[in-house]
Amino acid sequence: MSRKKVLVLGGNFAGLTAALTVKHELHGDVDVTVVSSCDDFLFTPSLIWVPFGKRIRRDITFKVGPTFEEHQVDFVHAEATAIDPVAKRVETAAGPQDYDYLVIATGYRNRFDVIPGLGQDGNAHTITTMEDALHAGEGWRRFIDRDEPGDIVIGATQGAGCFGAAYEFLFNTSYQLKKAGLKDKVRLTYVSAEPFLGHFGIGGLPHGESLLGMFLKKEKIHAVLDTAMDHVDEGRLVLADGRTIDFGYAMIIPPFSGQEVVRKVEAISDDNGFVKVRDTYQSEAYDDLYAVGVAAAVEVPWTTATPVGIPKTGFPTEQQAHTAALNIAAQVRGEEPAEHKAFGDIPAVCVMDAGNNGVVILADKMLPPRKHGVLIPGPQAHVMKLGFEKYFLWKMKHGQVRLP
Ligand SMILES: Cc1cc2nc3c(=O)[nH]c(=O)nc-3n(C[C@H](O)[C@H](O)[C@H](O)COP(=O)(O)OP(=O)(O)OC[C@H]3O[C@@H](n4cnc5c(N)ncnc54)[C@H](O)[C@@H]3O)c2cc1C
Repeated sequence: MSRKKVLVLGGNFAGLTAALTVKHELHGDVDVTVVSSCDDFLFTPSLIWVPFGKRIRRDITFKVGPTFEEHQVDFVHAEATAIDPVAKRVETAAGPQDYDYLVIATGYRNRFDVIPGLGQDGNAHTITTMEDALHAGEGWRRFIDRDEPGDIVIGATQGAGCFGAAYEFLFNTSYQLKKAGLKDKVRLTYVSAEPFLGHFGIGGLPHGESLLGMFLKKEKIHAVLDTAMDHVDEGRLVLADGRTIDFGYAMIIPPFSGQEVVRKVEAISDDNGFVKVRDTYQSEAYDDLYAVGVAAAVEVPWTTATPVGIPKTGFPTEQQAHTAALNIAAQVRGEEPAEHKAFGDIPAVCVMDAGNNGVVILADKMLPPRKHGVLIPGPQAHVMKLGFEKYFLWKMKHGQVRLP
């Protein structure tokens, strides 16, 4: 039997986990190649601290090449430009790659076109990529240096799903305003598509709304919820119902879409460029094509007046990557894929930082109906996030993807 080749597109949370897990599972008896447009691993949860200078690029990234080399995985630093699932071939900027099994782990792109005025040339910052977060930091430093800085708007547009990052940035901003002696001078407003505080794009958790309400009250933060945005002018957010909020600094999270290279393949992709998958993480259309992490489509199980997306966080991403890798290993051995893990049934595990405080979020399932869900507030959450960042970067850098 010829040696099989697994090709993984993307080398961050999902891609790195899937590539190393399949290699380990088959005791090295498989060729694994990772093609990624970025040769850094980026610990995205810490992007919330970059604008405040609490983290710089090298604190939260490492080069993935040596990690893959150590585990006998080939790494190609190049963008995948076309996928042909029938010929089982991917075109990349560094030449074509054939495969027996493909894992798409290409993550997200910002959908700045959701409203006019977003993006680096627009009027509001965002923090969802390293470049965006660095740019948001330049704006932040200009803001706090002004004699009359103005007010701050932090929010998430209609269709956004990354609400945790919006809340974390909101509370970190409040903390930084206190440190800069500006808390009483600056009005802080949270604007969100969520139907209620603490919905988080996962339908909320018991007591979450009241806990978040208490946090906002204590920090004197105003909330405008269940609202769509129309556009962002210079210094002014215009809501869909015509209301306006003036600001001297704004950070707005957009919705995410999949990568263009995925969206072009109609047979596998939904309208947003995410791959339609089964609970084995095989695509609906092809048994040998998998998608994991943000690249995998998730059905939103509710309808809200203002569209709300789903947060595709790190824990489910790792679980999906493991599931896909075990199923590929089974296929390589001539068996049927036997691992099933629907996104909604994966536990929710998240730490939300608030500067010197925070909330640990735990639930038995990402999506309702759930049996258990709890939010544990307190300074220990901040300490946990600091510790988790160090642990996770160590774990990924050393390829210890089987550790929790
Ligand atoms: C600001 C922010 C804060 C967050 N905070 C948390 C948190 O606190 N906790 C949590 O659990 N989750 C958090 N998340 C979510 C977390 O970042 C995602 O779950 C995780 O990034 C998903 O990993 P991924 O590998 O699927 O996608 P990505 O991290 O997006 O990685 C995709 C990779 O694919 C590469 N790629 C893209 N296109 C191509 C192409 N055409 N060819 C080849 N390679 C390509 C990219 O360069 C990248 O390396 C946060 C996200 C953001 C944006």
